Amino acid sequence: MNPEISVVVPVYNEEASIDLFLARVEPILEAIDPRWEVVFINDGSSDATLDIIRIAHAREPRVKGVDFSRNFGKEVALSAGLDFAAGRAVIPIDVDLQDPPEYIVDMVAKWREGFDVVLAKRADRKTDTHLKRNTAALFYWVIGRMSGRVAIPANVGDFRLLDRRAVSALRAYTERERFMKGIFASIGFRTATITYVRAQRAAGESKFRPWQLFNLALEGIVSFSTAPLKVWTYLGVTVAFFGFVYMALIMLRTLITGVDVPGYASLLSVTLLFNGLILIGLGVQGEYIARIVSEVKRRPRYLVRETIGGVEQP
Ligand code: UDP
Ligand code: MG
Repeated sequence: MNPEISVVVPVYNEEASIDLFLARVEPILEAIDPRWEVVFINDGSSDATLDIIRIAHAREPRVKGVDFSRNFGKEVALSAGLDFAAGRAVIPIDVDLQDPPEYIVDMVAKWREGFDVVLAKRADRKTDTHLKRNTAALFYWVIGRMSGRVAIPANVGDFRLLDRRAVSALRAYTERERFMKGIFASIGFRTATITYVRAQRAAGESKFRPWQLFNLALEGIVSFSTAPLKVWTYLGVTVAFFGFVYMALIMLRTLITGVDVPGYASLLSVTLLFNGLILIGLGVQGEYIARIVSEVKRRPRYLVRETIGGVEQP
């Protein structure tokens, strides 16, 4: 019997959260349709997460698991979840109950109306710190300017419902470096949005450090836009133009008033400024080249040690 609804949950050192999560999610799914499955992707946890998934599977066979060989990161775990989920609708969700599972009912209702994608948009960011809120706003502003035709919806996380059609489309994106928010946004399809209030973490602590969020933001920009590569052409042309005008002025002045020796401060600042700009330009190119390297290698995105509950290798 094929599952109707697959709930996909990446977990990394979440021994304290899994049972709380299942206790809340199972009755909700049961009420919608008994043909459900919960697929945990164990992202290289070093605590008892895997054992807890095993015990849960022994109690309830519709709880399944995929065990990674090491930690690959949430983005990768999420795409593995899409590979292994068998349902006609797939719902990625965090295990910490920050995405309240009660909203699954509304999502499924929209799906049954005929939408292929149901997004859950955060009504506010009250549960976030000021810093996270402001940097998130900045991120969405920047990416909104840069991603062209693909509009990345603001304040939409990974919590959503995807019809099988959308899942197949997503699986066709074979790139190694994955920015799921962007890929999710670029597939299109008939999309509905519900708003939800994000809760506090139920147990354990956040697995993300600020620098990881910074890297994620960088990944998002670099993987969805080539504008950072091109801006240097315009900058170079502008600077060269003013440089040329200034050079002509200086030559003229030297011809008229003779050699003018002072100028150490201005020379040094111009040199420092432009060396800095050149290094930034090189660094930006490096970001893209690094991605070319990793795409060309075509390494597997993740390695599976073991599966629990008969989920199938894609
Ligand atoms: N997670 C993961 N791999 C990682 C980091 C996190 O699978 O390397 C999972 C984590 O177990 C949780 C979800 O991703 O289910 C969201 O993580 P977290 O709650 O720490 O992020 P936050 O809510 O703080 O953004
Ligand atoms: Mg969380």
